[in-house]
Amino acid sequence: MKVYNSLARSIEEFKPEDGAEARLYTCGPTVYNFAHIGNFRAYAFEDVLRRTIEFNGWKVKQVQNLTDVDDKTIRGANAAGIPLAEYTKPYKEAFFADLKTLNIEPAEVYPAATDHIPEMIALVSKLVEKGVAYKSDDGSVYFNVRAFPGYGKLAHIDFDAQRTGARCASDEYDKENIGDFALWKAWEESDGPVGWDSPWGRGRPGWHIECSAMSMKYLGETFDLHTGGIDNLFPHHENEIAQAEAATGKPFVRTWMHCAHLRVNGQKMSKSLGNFFTLRDLLEKGFAGREIRYVLIDAHYRQGLNFAFTALEDARKSLARIDTCTDALAAKAASAAPAQTPEFAVSALSDFSAAVNDDLNTPRAFAALFNLVRSANAALESLSPAECAAVLETFRRMDKVLGVVFFGKAEAREDVPPEIAALLEKRAAARAAKDWALSDSLRAEIAAAGWTVKDSKNGQTASRA
Ligand code: AMP
Ligand code: ZN
Repeated sequence: MKVYNSLARSIEEFKPEDGAEARLYTCGPTVYNFAHIGNFRAYAFEDVLRRTIEFNGWKVKQVQNLTDVDDKTIRGANAAGIPLAEYTKPYKEAFFADLKTLNIEPAEVYPAATDHIPEMIALVSKLVEKGVAYKSDDGSVYFNVRAFPGYGKLAHIDFDAQRTGARCASDEYDKENIGDFALWKAWEESDGPVGWDSPWGRGRPGWHIECSAMSMKYLGETFDLHTGGIDNLFPHHENEIAQAEAATGKPFVRTWMHCAHLRVNGQKMSKSLGNFFTLRDLLEKGFAGREIRYVLIDAHYRQGLNFAFTALEDARKSLARIDTCTDALAAKAASAAPAQTPEFAVSALSDFSAAVNDDLNTPRAFAALFNLVRSANAALESLSPAECAAVLETFRRMDKVLGVVFFGKAEAREDVPPEIAALLEKRAAARAAKDWALSDSLRAEIAAAGWTVKDSKNGQTASRA
């Protein structure tokens, strides 16, 4: 598997450091509002990354944080006059519901920033002890970027040419305004009831320290992969590296990956520009989760993607072509076990595998899938039920990465375990021989094992009861 490492600025071979489990940190949502589909472009890219690692036979331990305390969440809660936790709760819930709608595999851990304040205070304390952070007059703590020689290595900053020496109190700023950044922010009037006691007085963590503290807690001081949208690269990820490496003296992350933005008329889709659609907006317009997912992952993740409704309509047509093909295969395969995979399916899967392993080249992966659709349609008449089942199995393998084909139609397509498949086969034979008593007793046996059988003119299908 090869991926583009933003730190090395080149394509590199990727495998988990321990050879078995990839440790992956994905910057999660700031829960001050509903996530928009630009955010979901990042989460969908990370899902394809995760699924590709799994496709290659490795395990994944993914941690995705919930930023539930920062400038924006505090502003929102105080404007609404409710406690911070009450303000962020519905947005957290909406985020998880939206992930399901987009068939995004859940991470192993979803740490919330407000549950990890002691870890953040400990990390800031360590940086102060090491002399790379200092307390300012107002009781905030800043990271001294000049004290960490590696500062700027991710964003490739020509530090000396740009240094302004100013401090950045806010979490987001641009490359032209590099300066010492806040690790801990002293309480101020506008924070209202939000604040925690610390060695530097009452205050709250800066955004960047949240991710360094939570990633190292769950994934160790050095881990495999860290990702986000390209806007996270500077200052957020640059600062995460500085905080972690200055504290531990070890490399923080082996591979950094960033996706390009989802844009609207050439501009980044963002809350602040007001040019955004939430997932809910699109569902209300009648689009399905799988159609939206298709559009988000169809373009290569490092290419800018301009959002357009026509793309959603095209996705609907493309998915219908896939459905027609897989439905026909399923009807013909009935309950046959996969065997004798046709050559065209073997070669499509090999093209698919090469594509996803080439820096998650999803456009080529979809091309391989549509080659399979074309070949299967052309060969359908001459394929045996076992061959049809094998071609379906090939679709299923591809869909482990793409997550669009069987998504939403899962009930007819679940992976049937071999013992159930054997019973189904017997039952198909019994029905062909019009032995209804045997057919019924097999149905009861299958039901006792937790599966429901449905009969239709295309044969029987089984789903988990
Ligand atoms: P935020 O909630 O702003 O911290 O963003 C959550 C994630 O969405 C981060 O990984 C961002 O980099 C990413 N993101 C924000 N806007 C876009 C966009 N228009 N296109 C792609 N990713 C984005
Ligand atoms: Zn982060």
